[in-house]
Amino acid sequence: MKKILNYIDGNYCEPISETWIDNYNPSNGEVYSQIANANEQDVEKAYEAAKKAFPSWSNTTIEERSRIMLRIATLIEENLEELAYAESLDNGKPLSLAKAVDIPRASSNFRFFGNAITQFASEAHESVGLNTMNFTLRQPIGVVGCISPWNLPLYLFTWKIAPAIAAGNTVVAKPSEITPMTAFMLGEICTKAGLPNGVLNIVHGTGPSAGQAIVAHKNIKAISFTGGTITGEHIARTAAPMFKKLSLELGGKNPNLIFADCNYEKMLAVTLKSSFANQGQICLCGSRIFVERSIFEKFKKDFVTKVAQLKVGNPFDENTNIGALVSKPHMEKVQSYIEIAKEEGGIVLTGGNPVVVKGSENGYYLEPTVIEVFDDQCRVNQEEIFGPVVTLMPFDTEEEVINMANGVEYGLSATLWTQNLDRTMRISKKIESGIVWVNTWLNRDLRTPFGGVKNSGVGREGGFEALKFFTEPKNICITYSE
Ligand code: NAD
Repeated sequence: MKKILNYIDGNYCEPISETWIDNYNPSNGEVYSQIANANEQDVEKAYEAAKKAFPSWSNTTIEERSRIMLRIATLIEENLEELAYAESLDNGKPLSLAKAVDIPRASSNFRFFGNAITQFASEAHESVGLNTMNFTLRQPIGVVGCISPWNLPLYLFTWKIAPAIAAGNTVVAKPSEITPMTAFMLGEICTKAGLPNGVLNIVHGTGPSAGQAIVAHKNIKAISFTGGTITGEHIARTAAPMFKKLSLELGGKNPNLIFADCNYEKMLAVTLKSSFANQGQICLCGSRIFVERSIFEKFKKDFVTKVAQLKVGNPFDENTNIGALVSKPHMEKVQSYIEIAKEEGGIVLTGGNPVVVKGSENGYYLEPTVIEVFDDQCRVNQEEIFGPVVTLMPFDTEEEVINMANGVEYGLSATLWTQNLDRTMRISKKIESGIVWVNTWLNRDLRTPFGGVKNSGVGREGGFEALKFFTEPKNICITYSE
C-alpha cells in the first residue's frame, strides 16, 4: 500500500515511531494509503532541518527566491492532471473542481508570492529638523509553522507556505491527516524546482500529535493556522504563553442576503455554487440564505428545483456536481444537523438523505439539502455544519436582515445581492465579516486581505498582509550630523 512519508531536509522519510494512520478514499470508503504518524520527535527533526536552512535561505537574493517559487508554480501546472486526480481521490471532490480550482490556485499561490516578494517594500520616516532618519527593516522570523485543513488541501497548504518562504523563513508544515496526498507530492516538486533542502519540511499525522508539537515548539516563533474554531482556540491557548505570532483562519456561518432588486438569474446561478460547491465544504459557503419576502416564494421554488437537479456522484464521473463528503465521521456530523433541523421545526425542502452511488456503494454521499427555518437563532442557523446543507428564511427590512446576518458568533464572509448602490454601501459597512461579496461569490484577487472577525479568526492573509505576518518589523533610527 502507498505510504505517505514525511518530507524533511529535502528527503522523504518514515516516521520515527514507525506507526501509520489509514487514509480513506471517500468515494468508496476504502483505505488506499497509509500516512506517517509523526510525533514530537519528527517535528524536532523537521525543526532542526529548517533551522539549519534558515541562515542561507534568509540571505538568498529576492530574485533567486522568486525564481525558485515560479519554478514550483510551473511544475504544479505541469503536473495538474496527476495532482488533481490525487486531490479528488483523497478528498472526494469532483475531479473537474480539483482541475479547475484547487490545483491552478496552488500554482497561483507560488506564482503570486514569488512575484509579490519582488515588490515588497518598507516605510521610511524622516524626522525633519532633528537630523534623524527612521526606516523599517522587515526581517524573516525564522522557523515558522503552517497547519492546514482538509477542504481545499493543496490550495490552503500552499497559501501559507508560499508567503512564508517568499519572505525568507523556513517552514515546518502539516497538512490535514484526512487529505495528505497532494502535500506529500509537493515535496518532490519542491526538490525538482531547486528549493534548498530544509526550507520546507512537511510532517504528516494527527493534530494532537504532530500539529500540537509544532504549535508547542518553543523555537517555532509564528504559527499560521487554518481550520476549525475550537482547534484555533486550543492553538491560541498553547501559543499565547510563548508570545508567538499567530494567524488564525477559522470557521464560518456566512449569510447570503438576497434583495428583490438583484439580477435574479445571476443570483440564482451563483447561489447554487455558494451553497454547494465542494459539497458545501468551503469556509466561505453561504450557508444561511436570507431572501426579501416579496421574492421569497419564487426563489424557494426556483432554487429547490435547481438543487434537486444537481447530480451527486463519483468524483471521477464528469457529470458529477456533488462528490463525496470527506469522511464518514464528517458525513455523520452533517446528517446529525439535518435531524436537529427537523427537531427544531425546520422543513426539509429538498435533499436530506444519503445517496448510494452505483459502483461506489460505500462512499460518503449526501443529497444537497435545503431547509426552511423559522427562527434565525436555531442551531442549524448558528452552528457551522460545513456540508451540503443550507437554510432559507425570508426578511422584510434591511435592519432585520443585518441583525440576522450579524447574529452569529462567526464573521468570515457575506454575500449581498442588490442593484442598489446606496444599500450596498450601507449594508457592507454594517456587516460583521472580513469579506463582503456584492453580486458575486468567491471572487478572489490575491492582493486583497483575507480573514475573518469574531470567532472566524485573527489576522489577515493575502497580499502584503501575509508578507507582513511572516516578517518582523524593526525600527532602525539613525541620526546624522550636517
Ligand atoms: P481542524 O481544526 O480539525 O484541523 C485543521 C488542521 O489542524 C489539521 O491539519 C489538524 O490536524 C490540525 N490540528 C488539529 N488539532 C490540532 C492541535 N491541537 N494542534 C495543532 N494542530 C491541530 O479543521 P478541519 O476539520 O480540518 O477543517 C474544517 C474547518 O476549517 C472548518 O471549521 C472550516 O470553516 C475551517 N476553514 C477555515 C478557512 C478560513 O480561511 N477561515 C478555510 C478553510 C477551512
